[in-house]
Amino acid sequence: MNQAEKKWLGAHVSAAGGVDNAPVNAQKIGANAFALFTKNQRQWKSPPLQPEVIRSFEERCSELGFTREQILPHNSYLINPGHPEEAGLQKSRDALLDEMQRCELLGIPYLNIHPGSHLRQISEQECLERIAASVNYVLERTRGVTVVLENTAGQGSNLGFRFEHLAEIIRLVDDPDRVGCCIDTCHAHAAGYDLLTPESYERTMEEFDRVVGFRWLRGMHLNDAKSALGSRVDRHAPLGEGTMGEEPFRLIMNDERLNHMPLILETTEPEKWAEEIAWLRSQV
Ligand SMILES: [Zn+2]
Ligand SMILES: [Zn+2]
Repeated sequence: MNQAEKKWLGAHVSAAGGVDNAPVNAQKIGANAFALFTKNQRQWKSPPLQPEVIRSFEERCSELGFTREQILPHNSYLINPGHPEEAGLQKSRDALLDEMQRCELLGIPYLNIHPGSHLRQISEQECLERIAASVNYVLERTRGVTVVLENTAGQGSNLGFRFEHLAEIIRLVDDPDRVGCCIDTCHAHAAGYDLLTPESYERTMEEFDRVVGFRWLRGMHLNDAKSALGSRVDRHAPLGEGTMGEEPFRLIMNDERLNHMPLILETTEPEKWAEEIAWLRSQV
């Protein structure tokens, strides 16, 4: 196996018309990994997954050569596992549990989530404790699915923009084997983590390893940024077309620590995904 095949590259593809369309859409862009929403991400409730759709999803994944570990679903943007109010918190926990159960039914071992927001009503620490309690809540009620905490840009009152936030949540989770994290490059850049040169990239990765640890890393989101380093503004851009440029992605492609985990594009122009994946492969 060559180095390029150790890199599992894909994009957050459409699941319109059924989750079983996602692997087909991923194959069309030359991906060997993908992300998807397992329900409508803008609604609290969606109809349950039908057994024939689950079967079709499994069949297509195996026909097209996607293993379970190459799939990194993303949760709905409505969910706030750190919600400061009881009613809002319970609503988010119920919705998160539903998404975990969907992953369980589809045989997918991961669910990528945004940690949560304090909405300026509680302290950062209280919010991190609520997030960990929400993770415990859904882990206790499911089997075989790991909660993957994504770092954020730190826009508004969103937590997860410091590696320390992710480390603290992981520390507070009862089952450490079923929690992990995902680094979004655009979010890291917006949060002030410099990935732009070989030296700054290595410093940032070493900081991640020291604060969180690579053993917790389950995937990455590969996005260039429209916003500046440290701006705390979350705006994705196609690779090489934003304020990050090509170098960070070249470094990622040649970083062995990032082998065998989904590396997912969430760039803003889906028609470029095939080209972006081919370009990434050519950088090894
Ligand atoms: Zn995300
Ligand atoms: Zn992301």
